[in-house]
Formats: sequence, structure tokens, C-alpha cells
Amino acid sequence: MSRRSAAEALVRNVPATPFVAGRWETRSTAPSFDVIDPVTERPLTTVIEADAETVDRAVVSAHHALDEGEWGRVDGATRGQLLYTFAQLLEDRAEDFANLESLEVGKPGIEPRVIDLPQAVATFRHYAGWADKLTGQSIPTSGYQGRATLSYTVREPIGVVAAITPWNSPTMIGSWKIAPALAAGCAVVLKPPEDAPLTSLLLAQLAEQAGFPPGVFSVLPGRGPTTGNLLIEHPGIDKISFTGSPETGHIVATAAAKGFRPTTLELGGKSPQIVFADADLDAAADGVALGIFANQGEVCAAGSRIMVAQAVYDDFVDRLAARAAKIVVGDPFDAGTTMGALINAKQRDRVLRYVRLGREEGARLVTGGGQPDRNGYFVEPTLFAHASNTMTIAREEIFGPVGTILAFDDDSHAVAMANDSNYALAATLWTTDLSRAHTVARRVRAGAVAVNGWSPLDPRLPWGGSKLSGHGRELGWAGIEANTELKTVTVVL
Ligand code: NAD
Repeated sequence: MSRRSAAEALVRNVPATPFVAGRWETRSTAPSFDVIDPVTERPLTTVIEADAETVDRAVVSAHHALDEGEWGRVDGATRGQLLYTFAQLLEDRAEDFANLESLEVGKPGIEPRVIDLPQAVATFRHYAGWADKLTGQSIPTSGYQGRATLSYTVREPIGVVAAITPWNSPTMIGSWKIAPALAAGCAVVLKPPEDAPLTSLLLAQLAEQAGFPPGVFSVLPGRGPTTGNLLIEHPGIDKISFTGSPETGHIVATAAAKGFRPTTLELGGKSPQIVFADADLDAAADGVALGIFANQGEVCAAGSRIMVAQAVYDDFVDRLAARAAKIVVGDPFDAGTTMGALINAKQRDRVLRYVRLGREEGARLVTGGGQPDRNGYFVEPTLFAHASNTMTIAREEIFGPVGTILAFDDDSHAVAMANDSNYALAATLWTTDLSRAHTVARRVRAGAVAVNGWSPLDPRLPWGGSKLSGHGRELGWAGIEANTELKTVTVVL
């Protein structure tokens, strides 16, 4: 059986319905929506949407598990064991998850196999390790009315966490939200993306198998303005962890502000990749091409502003164009495909609109810019040169395979241009000068800076940005802090 057929067969075994309070929803009166294959443009399946009643049940059962059920009393070591079991189950099913993610997202098979799934498994293992290490401090004070005191802090779960994920990497980004929250002792209600909800429903199956008590982890498929909105407006939600666009991030932050509920917002980016004249230009061209074309450019950290020193500009543009020419666009399940389809027709049209704008604003189209002559939401790998940082294609997030190449004169110019953006998520620097690398890394405003490569995706390294890229950090210890609160206890002795 081909991998595509295996993935299509798997779809028939994924329960396409909400998983709430430890059970799969069976009500047939709820609304539903189709999940479309971005390569064939045909429906893969129809999924039952979580409506108001289901959302409410998920939040109530999460609170019940936490406040009255066993989850609130389970110790850290047991939570850790459950997460280790979950990680193992995920690793055992990694091939299924990878196939399903290629099918519903349109990404080439190699990417979920070597990036998304190993990262998701590593994230669950990382947080399994944290679960029994969430300690407080004992803090000496000056006493109370002449009496000594014993003061200490306790790190407690923040409560019921609403996790809302985007379609570009639903399994991996889901793991960044689910694993730290469960390790911290929270209950999680996950709202996966409507374009690619199937891997998240498989995660619910694994949670059931791993033995998490009912209500601790629910999955609510549904559309953003319906299910997503019901979830963020629900008064029982204690924290919202959201990854998606700045526009939706604004809606989430506004809803959260009504109840002063904390948020972690991982939003978009317009990340600079800065190539200095002293860089190893071949290595830089390989890295920069990966930085803009991996996952069809549908990556929040995509290095879509390619900034090149004047002295090597033309040479570097040629090298990069040669890399783009080697990319094979096609069905993610075909051997040899290195770039798949965009997620949906809306996203394809949005990317093509930016290509038109780039031309109209006077940038030089070096390569790509069109659609392959076939079905599916494909766009060719595209590069614009001789662009300026004021052009729309240099300012707005395209979220597709379109790189805008800018020129800079010196280091100060490079830093000023990198920071002249509404976004501040990631940056890469390409240089052989160690001092320049550290100096520029310090001056560039970004949540993550990588030098001479891409920052390894590693659950130990914090991830997040500022400005329109959002706020807060996921992963590492920061992920635990984002899902816990400190309680101070003082005993007057
Ligand atoms: P999106 O904002 O349209 O959707 C993200 C999620 O929010 C989906 O699950 C959607 O259903 C939900 N949603 C939409 N409207 C909602 C509402 N009114 N209330 C509650 N939930 C709602 O984003 P997208 O198109 O899925 O993803 C692309 C965006 O995500 C890009 O801007 C990209 O940069 C960003 N992204 C950021 C990161 C990061 O880590 N910073 C990672 C991946 C994607």
C-alpha cells in the first residue's frame, strides 16, 4: 500500500468528533465541517464541530477533574509517568501521525518524519521529566510582630488551559501546549485548527490509551469563530495558550482581558536572515533557502526578509536562485517532492496576491511567482530581489514560499533594517566573524537568534516573540512558568 493510501485509510479510523470528559461525542445534531485534502482539493472527511453545549461540558469536566476529581491530587511523579507513557505511544504511532499530517497539511513526508514528530515526542518526554520537580522556595522574612515566621512558596497549576493551535504544524505545536500544562497539573482543552484537526483527534486517542483521567484532556474540533470563540469566552477557562495569526491573537487577548486571564500568544513573524559579506556563502544559501522554503514557507519563523551585504548581493542572489530552482513541488507522498501544497485556496490566493503586489511595487522577480499547472493549492518557490524594506512584501507576513531579498551597507544598517518591522520572532545571522555574530545577536530584536544555521527545535529552548509576534514563552522551564502560579504561605511561629 502506498503511503498516501495508508494515510487515507487512517483517516477512516480517526474518530471525527469531539473528545470530551473521556468520551467521544456522539450527538448527531451538532454542526459539522469538511477537512479538505490540499493536494486533490477533495474532502478527506467530515468532522463534528464542538458547539456551545460541548464546549461547556469540556470546561466543566476539566474543572471537575482538577478541583474535585483525582487529577488535582495526583502527584508529580505519576503525572510524569503518564506523560512518559503518552510519549511512547506517540513514538510508536509516529509514522501514522506523519502520514496524516502530510495528508491534511500538504507538507512533504520527510518534514513531519524528521521534524514534527520527533519534536513532539521529545517535548512530551522533556515535560514528563519536569513533572516531579516543581518545587517552591522557603524564604526568610523579618518576622511578624516580634515572632518568627516560616514562609514558603508553592508552585500550583494555573487551572484549566485552553490551547488553540494553527494548521501548519498541529502535532508539534499542540505538544508545546499540552505537555507543559499537563506536567504542571493543569487540565487542557485543545481546539485544533479546522483545516487540519485529525492529528489532534489522534492525540486524544493516545491520551485515552495512556490513562489520563476523564476531563484532563479534551479535544474540541471546530471553526475559529464558532468553537474557538466559545472556548475563549468561557468563564471557566483560566489561561489561554494561542498560536496563530496576530488578527486572531487580538481577539484572544481581548477576550482574555475581560477576566484578566493570562495568555501566551505565539503569533506571526517577518524574520530577517542576515548574510554578511564574510559569510560562507554556499552554507548561507543552503540555510537561507531552508529558512524560507521549508514547509512551503508556512512557518511562523520563516526567514522571509533575506538581507544581504551589498558587496556579495548579486552573487548571493544567484546562489539562492539556484537552490530555489532545485526544489521539486508536488504531492507530498511522491518520492522526490521537496515542497508540498499550501493549506487551502484562501492561503494560495493570499500568497499570489502578495506576488502581484511585489511586482506592482517594483521588486524584481528572480524566480517563481506562479502556480504549477495541476490540481491542488501549490505555489512555486518565489524570490524577489532589489526590494526595499518599505514594500508590502517586506512588511507583511505572507506565510508562503516567498522570499524578499534586501541589501544593506554595513552592520548598523543591517540591524536598523532588521529591527524596522512590526514583528520580532526570530533572526538568523550568517558570518564567520565571532565578534560580529555576538554583537549583532545582541542588537537584533527577536525572541530567538541563530548564527550560521537554524536554531535547533529543542524542547529545552524557550520559544516566542514580541511586538506583533506575541508575548510569553513556550518550552523549557518557561513552559512550566506559563502554566503555574506561585502561592506564598506564611506561618507565624
Ligand atoms: P488563525 O489565527 O487563523 O487560526 C489559529 C487558530 O485560531 C485556529 O485553530 C483557528 O480555528 C482559531 N481561531 C480563529 N478565529 C478564532 C476566534 N475568533 N476565536 C478563537 N479561536 C479562533 O491562524 P492560522 O491561519 O491557523 O495560522 C497561521 C498564523 O499562525 C500565521 O500568522 C503564523 O505566523 C502563525 N503561527 C505562529 C507560530 C508561532 O509559534 N509564533 C507558529 C505557527 C503559526
